[in-house]
Amino acid sequence: MNGSKVNDSLRDKVAIVTGAARGIGAAAVRSLGEAGASVVATDVLDDEGEALVRELCAEGANVRYAHLDVTDEQQWLQVVDRTVRELGRLDVLVNNAGIGSMADVESETVETWDRTISINQEGVWLGMKVAIPRMREAGGGSVVNLSSIFGAVGGFGASVAYHATKGAVRLMTKNAAIRYATEGIRVNSVHPGFIDTPLVAELKGTPAENEIIQSTPMRRWGRPEEVGEVIAFLASDAASYMTGSEVYVDGGWTAR
Ligand code: NAP
Repeated sequence: MNGSKVNDSLRDKVAIVTGAARGIGAAAVRSLGEAGASVVATDVLDDEGEALVRELCAEGANVRYAHLDVTDEQQWLQVVDRTVRELGRLDVLVNNAGIGSMADVESETVETWDRTISINQEGVWLGMKVAIPRMREAGGGSVVNLSSIFGAVGGFGASVAYHATKGAVRLMTKNAAIRYATEGIRVNSVHPGFIDTPLVAELKGTPAENEIIQSTPMRRWGRPEEVGEVIAFLASDAASYMTGSEVYVDGGWTAR
C-alpha cells in the first residue's frame, strides 16, 4: 500500500488503539504506524504492550504505550487527555479490546455476562463518549469499532454474551455514525471471522478448529494483519464516504 491515499492521509494523524498488546489490536497498531500515524497503543497487558511498542519503535514507527482498562471512564479521560497534550490532537479511535465467552443461554452466569458486556460493549461506548469531543476539536475523525461475524449471525448457538455485545457494537456504530455524520466524524464497524490470535488459542487442535476451517469458504484462519490493514483503511481518508458501514473480514463466512 506504499504511496497510496491510505498511507498518505494517515501520516499526520494521531490514533488510539485499545486491546493493542497482541492479536488484531497489535496488527492495527502496526498498520497505522507503518502508514505514518502516531499511535497510542493501550491495553491491560502492560508488559506485552511495552514489548510491542519497543519492537515497532525500533522499526521506525511513532508508537507509545499507555495502560487503559476500557471499562474505566477515568482511565479513558486520562489517556485521551494525555494523547492530546503530548501529540496535539486525536483523529482515530480503534475500539478493539474484547474478550470471548463460550457459554450458551442456560449455562451463562450473571458474573461472566456482566464482565463481557462491560468490556465488549460498555467499553466501546465509553471510548466514543470520551474520544469524540476531542475529534471534534481536531475538525473530524474516524472511529473503528471491532464487532464480529457473531454481531450479525447466531453462529453455533453458543457464546450468547459475546453475540449480544457484538450485535450491540454493530448498532451502536450505526447510531453514532448518524449522530456525527455532519461533523466529519465517521464511525464504522469491522467484523472479523476466525482470526488466529490468542483469543481463539483454546480452540486450536480441537474438533471445533476443524469445524471452523470447514465452515470458512477460504478454508483457513485469517491472519491478524489481514484485519489490521482493513482497520487502517477505514481510519484513513481513503474511506472518506464510509460511515455506519459494517465491513466483514471473514474469508467468506457470512457469504454462505
Ligand atoms: P486478543 O488476542 O485476546 O486481544 C485482545 C486484547 O484486549 C488482549 O490483550 C486483552 O487482554 C485485552 N483486554 C481484555 N480486557 C480488556 C480491558 N478491560 N481493557 C483493555 N484491554 C482489554 O483478541 P483478538 O482476537 O485480537 O480480538 C480483538 C478484537 O477482535 C476483539 O474485540 C474480538 O472480539 C474481535 N474479534 C476477534 C476474532 C478472532 O477470531 N480473533 C473474531 C471476531 C472478532 P487480556 O488477555 O487480559 O484479556
